[in-house]
Amino acid sequence: MKLDTPIGEFPGVGQVRQRALERLGLRTAEDLLRHFPRDYEDRTKLCTIAQAPEGESVCVRALVAETPRLSRIRKGLELTKVRVVDDFTSMTVTFFNQSYVKDALRPGESYVFYGKVEGYGRARQMTNPVFEREGAARFTGRIMPVYSLTHGISNNLLAGLTQRALEGCLEQVEETLPPALRQEHALAALPFSWQHIHFPGSFEELALARRRLIFEELFYLSCGLAFLNKRRGAESGPVFSPGPAEDFDALLPFSPTGAQRRAMAELAADTSSGRPMNRLLQGDVGSGKTAVAAYGAWLARKSGFQSALMAPTEILAHQHYTTLSSLLAPAGMKVALLTGSLKAAEKKKVYAALESGEIDLAVGTHALLSEGVVFSRLGLVVTDEQHRFGVEQRAALAAKAALRPHVLVMSATPIPRTLALIIYGDLDISVLDELPPGRTPVATYLVGEDKRQRMYGFVRKLVGEGRQAYIVCPMVEEGEEATAELKAVTAYAQQLQAQVFPDLRVAFVHGKMKAKEKEAVMASFAAGQVDVLVSTTVIEVGVDVPNAALMIVENAERFGLSQLHQLRGRVGRGKHQSYCVLISENKTPETLERLKVMTQTTDGFRISEEDLKARGPGDFFGKRQHGLPQLRISDLAGDMRVLKEAQQAAEELLRSDPALEQPENRRVLDQVRRLFAENPDIFN
Ligand code: ADP
Ligand code: MG
Repeated sequence: MKLDTPIGEFPGVGQVRQRALERLGLRTAEDLLRHFPRDYEDRTKLCTIAQAPEGESVCVRALVAETPRLSRIRKGLELTKVRVVDDFTSMTVTFFNQSYVKDALRPGESYVFYGKVEGYGRARQMTNPVFEREGAARFTGRIMPVYSLTHGISNNLLAGLTQRALEGCLEQVEETLPPALRQEHALAALPFSWQHIHFPGSFEELALARRRLIFEELFYLSCGLAFLNKRRGAESGPVFSPGPAEDFDALLPFSPTGAQRRAMAELAADTSSGRPMNRLLQGDVGSGKTAVAAYGAWLARKSGFQSALMAPTEILAHQHYTTLSSLLAPAGMKVALLTGSLKAAEKKKVYAALESGEIDLAVGTHALLSEGVVFSRLGLVVTDEQHRFGVEQRAALAAKAALRPHVLVMSATPIPRTLALIIYGDLDISVLDELPPGRTPVATYLVGEDKRQRMYGFVRKLVGEGRQAYIVCPMVEEGEEATAELKAVTAYAQQLQAQVFPDLRVAFVHGKMKAKEKEAVMASFAAGQVDVLVSTTVIEVGVDVPNAALMIVENAERFGLSQLHQLRGRVGRGKHQSYCVLISENKTPETLERLKVMTQTTDGFRISEEDLKARGPGDFFGKRQHGLPQLRISDLAGDMRVLKEAQQAAEELLRSDPALEQPENRRVLDQVRRLFAENPDIFN
């Protein structure tokens, strides 16, 4: 077997399984090795039947004492029962609907059973355990990997295939990191790491393997990002002259916060430097990012350049258009709106005005990327709510300029700075960490099921006062039926309408709806034609509905804090006191502790730090942020110190060998290329 042996050649993999494995991105033996477990199950603890602790899964070695008995309770329910004994005690093992067990367990033979032992004395029992012959040690007596799966692929199957790939290929695996680097940072060898990330003999081995793999990936990522930055540093960009800030301030109906001033100064410095700006503007919902973008457009125009602002939805584009045109009109600036739903004739007019340079700022959706759009002198590209856009889209817009234009990316997802440096490594960062004065924080409550009726009462009361409410349900997890999400949301909305709020206007949106349908529902909510909007997290990115004053989140424990924060940001945008109610039946102390943070602070950065502490960086990496490579460590959720160490190591290596030309660094270059395979232009 070779690393590139197709999975189809593995025993037991026919066409159906091959296709299912492809859905997981698994085509070759090497893909299997790189498909890291998302979790582990500790099956190493061995007990006697008598000593097995209550409620904990353990391994028990026992002899099958009789022929298993199969009985049909009713249609669709079969029980197989068998008595097993160890040196001291016996217990009954019961299997539901696993009739094959009757022949798999042979009287007089010893097996290891993994499961929970329940009951006392003679009544000890186990239900649906994992079992295998004593000595097999494939599924028991070891730390088992838990993989992300897809329909038709079981964990055991995947573990088996991976085991086979390891046995067949491990000897051919060559080290990719320079020896000096491995030594300096105490990193395990690659073959060791692949072996033990899948089948660790102990948690110490697992930690070593994981450290190496996380380090390595972040190291390659950092190297690639450094290339990107270097390339950008060598290019020239449009030069804006930094006009006096007071002239711009006079256009604003408020005076900028300190944070806004800082961001504006950074923007002015970047755009006048002669190099193309590539800057991320991070700030909580409501922190005033729009004013900073407007400042950029104002600077551009003063220097004779046009600007474009791209938003992910028509509604958002509309909102920006309204705000920006009234803000910038007094400065004599011409702002145009360009979206897909514009009539052909109107589009033509906008196209012509853009090409002639009559328009100073074009606000729009993806329509801005259409072929017909030609700018006369594009100098600044702003994208809002960036995680909806990939690098390619930003690049497509930038390509409409003769000189590479300045780019400002606005994001309302606060990310701890250390992490942002990695995730947005190709961007400089400005942070709006200060809200404009006079905001009333959203009052946030954490409640259990017992308060449900009261909460519905509260919805009714606020709607009675003319407000609107969101009710958010969790996305359906992968692996569950694809239609379940749709059902959950639609069924819940229907039930609310029929039984709880027959007199209110209830509507719903979910991710499986067409974009047009979604936007139509959102638009009618924004127009006040819907009182209660039931949805999945599709509303996370968003629309400004100042009249919405209540956000209810069902099964709040299933959301990350940052996501909850994002959801909460949908309310509290108007003059009304707003509320957020988190419903959770989960009573584990860690969960309560985590959710309580939401009731204690509205500071997005603090919340994201807490999220990072509680759940590790996996979630931040999990979302494909902006076209950077998809990282496998998202499955490993590493430790912040490794992140920093890897970054520093990359900087050091590149200082001594900027193009990675030395023979000992050749493999590093290969790996960076591999990681950035989807953005090959970074190497030009
Ligand atoms: P973001 O896009 O960051 O969520 P916006 O730019 O939409 O926030 O601003 C939110 C609201 O706050 C807007 O109504 C805006 O006019 C107002 N605002 C922005 N900056 C200030 C400020 N410095 N003082 C008072 N109000 C402000
Ligand atoms: Mg905004």
